[in-house]
Amino acid sequence: MIVTVKKNADPALISELIQNFESQGFQVNDSVGSDYHILGLIGDTTSLDERKIKANPIVDNVTRIAAPYKKANRLFHPEDTIVDVNGIKVGGHEKIVVIGGPCSVEGLDHICQLAQDVKEAGACMLRGGAYKPRTSPYAFQGLGTEGILDMVEARKRTGLPIVSELMDSDQLDEFEEYVDVIQIGARNMQNFSLLKAVGKSHKPILLKRGLANTIEEWIMSAEYIMASGNPNVILCERGIRTFEKYTRNTLDLSVVPIIKEKTHLPIIIDPSHATGNWKYIESMSLAAIAAGADGLIIEVHEHPECAWSDGAQCLKPEKFKQLIDKARNIAHVVGRDL
Ligand code: PEP
Ligand code: MN
Repeated sequence: MIVTVKKNADPALISELIQNFESQGFQVNDSVGSDYHILGLIGDTTSLDERKIKANPIVDNVTRIAAPYKKANRLFHPEDTIVDVNGIKVGGHEKIVVIGGPCSVEGLDHICQLAQDVKEAGACMLRGGAYKPRTSPYAFQGLGTEGILDMVEARKRTGLPIVSELMDSDQLDEFEEYVDVIQIGARNMQNFSLLKAVGKSHKPILLKRGLANTIEEWIMSAEYIMASGNPNVILCERGIRTFEKYTRNTLDLSVVPIIKEKTHLPIIIDPSHATGNWKYIESMSLAAIAAGADGLIIEVHEHPECAWSDGAQCLKPEKFKQLIDKARNIAHVVGRDL
């Protein structure tokens, strides 16, 4: 970390600042130039609050050199993390995983049929929301426990592990018991108490990027989960808010190489929420795999026009199968299997 001290600052106050850093265990390189007075802090600065340092009246600027995250940082963990979901490996260089299913669970027969459909198409996990974060309080809020139990039955019939969104730590025991991958949705990406709670869980966590969050903020949220004890984090890009209106969100595919460079965590892409339109899902899925993503999570519904949520961004099962067949070819081109 580099702390730039204001010109003409009182030398006594500068010494006090240096001593303060040294008492915290940092080595301080003090360099006085003709225009700038710079303190270079050597040591692990992850726990330092740069805004607090900046509040010191003699400090002009604070620049972080090292990333503020440690556990997620590729620098300290060069090999890829591979998250094991009931024997299915997410991350690494071999397999691409595809997760399919409805936005919301709509009943037992419905989810069991869709589970069968996505399995036959080539998906290796089933998604389905039972607790739904809806913009309107009057919109369908999810079937709750009943929806989770319907997912459990669908897993029993197909063997597909189940992925569902946790909205409140009150439901964590239920998710611990029944769900294979706990999804933290975009709206809760910075719900720090929820992140700490799932950090105590042993289940893999699918952490979506927030609606308007930087990559660093997203990695810091993964860091929260990891710092609380759970290393099994799968990141999921689902599009961010921009000025563009032709799509629901803007898919930021540049996160794939950036996440791979900065972290060792697996990254998957959700082209359904990213585009909001079933017509764009296939091309964005192929692009995601070509870019090096470790998997896809896609909304699927037999009758999207009747879906209880997010119908416009659901693929019908046959289109989903066509997509997987094409994606398999791209996976082979980049040296992976699907
Ligand atoms: C979902 O997966 O249905 C969902 C609500 O996702 P997001 O949090 O990305 O909006
Ligand atoms: Mn949805």
